[in-house]
Amino acid sequence: MGLSAAAPAHVEDPRTRQLVDDLEPEFLKLVEWDWSLRVIFFPKDHPVLGMPDCRVNGCVRGARFGHTLCMGCEARWKESGQGFEDFIKAAKGRMLGTRQQPCRVPGCQRPWKSSRLVLCEAHNRQRVDTLKLSLEDFLRHPAVKPREMLGECEVPVCYRQRQYARARYCQAHALRWKAARRRGKTADEEAWRLGESAINADREVSLRGLPERVVAEILYGLQARTAAGSKTWD
Ligand SMILES: [Zn+2]
Ligand SMILES: [Zn+2]
Ligand SMILES: [Zn+2]
Repeated sequence: MGLSAAAPAHVEDPRTRQLVDDLEPEFLKLVEWDWSLRVIFFPKDHPVLGMPDCRVNGCVRGARFGHTLCMGCEARWKESGQGFEDFIKAAKGRMLGTRQQPCRVPGCQRPWKSSRLVLCEAHNRQRVDTLKLSLEDFLRHPAVKPREMLGECEVPVCYRQRQYARARYCQAHALRWKAARRRGKTADEEAWRLGESAINADREVSLRGLPERVVAEILYGLQARTAAGSKTWD
């Protein structure tokens, strides 16, 4: 996704205009801000906004400033009763709430299924069911071609990529929709879609669907706190 720093051209509210004009390109670049995407991404290494990788083996979530573990692992560690070194060496299982990462096949535009499978749905099926190869051999196989993007999830606040050609939603929202139907909330899919919140992924905050003024205020506030050197995390 290309980074476009160009602010929205027609902002009528003067206060919003002022805030948008006061945003520094350097700050917007730091949080990978793109007006067409509208998601704040916290960097891994920055003295104020940085969230380095959690120390737990296999965990790629960000640790807050002054912590060595992400919030999820910190809670699990406290419950586990294990020593710190033993705990961080134990392999981590399922990753929840992580940013979508691209499939490992070079040039493939689809997201991987998980940090464990590292391939998109189509390539994972090709590897497991058709070619029956190890990941390494699969990635070198001439029949393996990159796949085109399937498009964004149809939940308006969500920008995640869809995993299946027939699906309307990203995997996370597909699961939420399934759960909503199970609870008998199937009457109005359109209303469900509009009422859905973004998937809270690691190191990111979605501002999609918020009024222009609120978006400008949040960005400006974060910029000011960053400049003042205070600590902020997602
Ligand atoms: Zn962790
Ligand atoms: Zn792929
Ligand atoms: Zn989604």
